[in-house]
Amino acid sequence: MDDHPEPLDLHAPLVLGTQTLAGLWRAVLPEEAQWMKLPTERFADCSSCAPAQRGDYDPGCRCCAHLPHVPNVSLGLALERPETAAQVRRVLAQGVALPSGLWAGPAHFKREVTLQAEEAYGTDASMACPFFDAPTAACGIYAYRNSVCSSFFCEHDHGAAGEDLWSRVQAVLGSAETALQQWAMGQAGLSWAVQSARMAELTPRLTEISAGTGWTEEALRHIWGEWRGREELFYARCLAAVREHEDSLAETLGQWAVTDAVEFELAARDLLAPEHRHEAPPVATGTTERVPLAELWYSLQLELRNLWSLPLGETLRWAPGVSVTSAEPTLPVLGQTLHRVEGGARPYGLTEEELTLFGLFREGRALDARVLDSEAADAVSDPRGFLSECVRRELLVSE
Ligand code: SF4
Ligand code: SF4
Repeated sequence: MDDHPEPLDLHAPLVLGTQTLAGLWRAVLPEEAQWMKLPTERFADCSSCAPAQRGDYDPGCRCCAHLPHVPNVSLGLALERPETAAQVRRVLAQGVALPSGLWAGPAHFKREVTLQAEEAYGTDASMACPFFDAPTAACGIYAYRNSVCSSFFCEHDHGAAGEDLWSRVQAVLGSAETALQQWAMGQAGLSWAVQSARMAELTPRLTEISAGTGWTEEALRHIWGEWRGREELFYARCLAAVREHEDSLAETLGQWAVTDAVEFELAARDLLAPEHRHEAPPVATGTTERVPLAELWYSLQLELRNLWSLPLGETLRWAPGVSVTSAEPTLPVLGQTLHRVEGGARPYGLTEEELTLFGLFREGRALDARVLDSEAADAVSDPRGFLSECVRRELLVSE
């Protein structure tokens, strides 16, 4: 009898609690990652996008105002579906795709970093990601988006702690994603070392090799070499390697030594105005060690444990000054209307059920199993997460 496990479905989104990540992460993350409890982010409401309404971002790009490093394997997956294949073919025609995945040309890189340094990120719609569909404000490759796109929220229900947590998620996903693209391209027949060496050869002419968002034909021919004109086949081969090795991939990537295209990336930084260089991503040279993936994974688990820790056994009460401003819900968030609570670290919105559970602590009450097993707690989808959020937001304090 064949007891080989079913192949992983890399197209189906990976749902972790209330968050949806790209299905590719099934093959890349350690098995225990599927039980990660990531926070719900109700206040980054992309259906209405408050930052665009306030004018912080241009509605023509919102927060999608950069060219994301979508890895080669994700592009291979997107090419397998007609609705996303057309999008990948478009970026190939724009000259922004390298063997490792999407990579902006030096001129676009400079413009992106300059806008960030001038605190103008998201204000220029001409910088919109090529996958951003302005009329619907939708991502054209949502199921295949990269680590940055999967872990960015402009608001965090858990405030600074949530922001820290998501930056650790990004560090883990980003490190695994970079290892994946570097490993896969070697399997497909054009190694990362070769791409880095070819990019280094371009550095003396850095100002001449940009075209629009991407690269001139000459630069693309140089970097792709014998694969120029056969990019789709190359990405398909990267993906085939993932499928062939999916049982051992997480372990392989955990040991993969990620490197940067040091010579090229340092030269690209030199194009920036000196006062803007701090905004450019750091380049890991021989003296700057990258943190190993296993260590990043461990620190993410610790951060998650801290985020959801509860002061069990302590008596909690509403913090002085906390009040529910109206008996009726008034705060519109994600298609529902919430009760607005004032007086904590910042205003917060509660559902009817959350308000009932929160109300148990008005005069002070021990946080124990009786509360956590109560009807009021049962009615809330994640009572422990909700109560730890109230503590973190200083709506509930210990007596
Ligand atoms: S995450 Fe981006 S699209 Fe969503 S609400 Fe925030 S700025 Fe708007
Ligand atoms: S890939 Fe999608 S989510 Fe990421 S920047 Fe582009 S449009 Fe936005």
